[in-house]
Amino acid sequence: MNVPQPDAPTLFQSAIRGLACRCPRCGKGRLYAGFLSLRPRCGDCGLDYAFIDTGDGPAIFIIMIAGAIVVGCALIVEIKYQPPYWVHAVLWLPLILVTTLLPLRSMKSLLIALQFHHKAAPGRLIDRELK
Ligand SMILES: [Zn+2]
Repeated sequence: MNVPQPDAPTLFQSAIRGLACRCPRCGKGRLYAGFLSLRPRCGDCGLDYAFIDTGDGPAIFIIMIAGAIVVGCALIVEIKYQPPYWVHAVLWLPLILVTTLLPLRSMKSLLIALQFHHKAAPGRLIDRELK
């Protein structure tokens, strides 16, 4: 049974905290020490960030979204204008950088916030007594 905690953030609040790259518990402390490296704990509430494990999740979402945008745009331009290949390189290489690097921090922190909100953790084996 999932009993809501009185001061637990709603899913929307957790998502906003994630997109803002803030602590998933208090929403005030900063999450990152560098571009994608995390601080050891929240500077405001002291939440230990050791539980965080997003793996390749943020990169996969970014690859899927950016790939759809860039490939869709490239196909439209190719079908409508048939430009030389250097035009494609000039157009799509910067777009690839923009659509992958800009949202990566927010996507990673969004997944961290959702992991915290749903208390997601790796599966563990439990001891069962044979009867
Ligand atoms: Zn905090």
